[in-house]
Amino acid sequence: MILILVGAPGGGKGTQAEQLKTKYGIAHISTGDMLRANVKEGTELGKEANEYMQKGELVPDDLIIRMIEARIQVDDCGNGFLLDGFPRSLPQAEALDAMLEKQSLELDAVVNLKVDEEELVRRLLGRGRADDNEETIRNRLKVFNEQTSPVLGYYSKQDKVKDIDGMGSIDDVYDRVIKALSE
Ligand code: AMP
Repeated sequence: MILILVGAPGGGKGTQAEQLKTKYGIAHISTGDMLRANVKEGTELGKEANEYMQKGELVPDDLIIRMIEARIQVDDCGNGFLLDGFPRSLPQAEALDAMLEKQSLELDAVVNLKVDEEELVRRLLGRGRADDNEETIRNRLKVFNEQTSPVLGYYSKQDKVKDIDGMGSIDDVYDRVIKALSE
């Protein structure tokens, strides 16, 4: 099973990803988590990524694409994987398609978690991560609307998108996702 989770920051991607990982026995690949680990360890990648992350901008595509290309080769991806926070731009989506094709793998579905903007800001402000201040949040939402939304159009053309109402309790949202994936 190969899944992509798309949703604005604060939309509950990480929480749903953890549950889906357990249910399907697949690897959970969060580019945000991988980047934060690199920042913490002070790697070259982390140093380069950090300035973009602090501003709520996207880290350059080539860095992210290389990071994902290496990650999906790791053994724990043998049963499939769930991409959380990737692809976030059209070039990333196109690069992923090329990688999957090269390995004769097929994307099963793109889960689009939809949460309204007021709720997103409320959730993000309550989370307290380093890049969760109001100015960065506003920019992350803008970047999402401008750069990540086209990714959904790209996958709609492939008929892969499952739109999920992301409002309500974690369990309710999870049930909706599972139902959509079993259809
Ligand atoms: P997240 O934890 O998914 O909200 O990601 C936190 C930050 O990491 C984002 O605001 C971006 O700066 C960066 N980031 C994460 N994933 C990507 C990606 N696929 N492409 C570019 N930047 C990313």
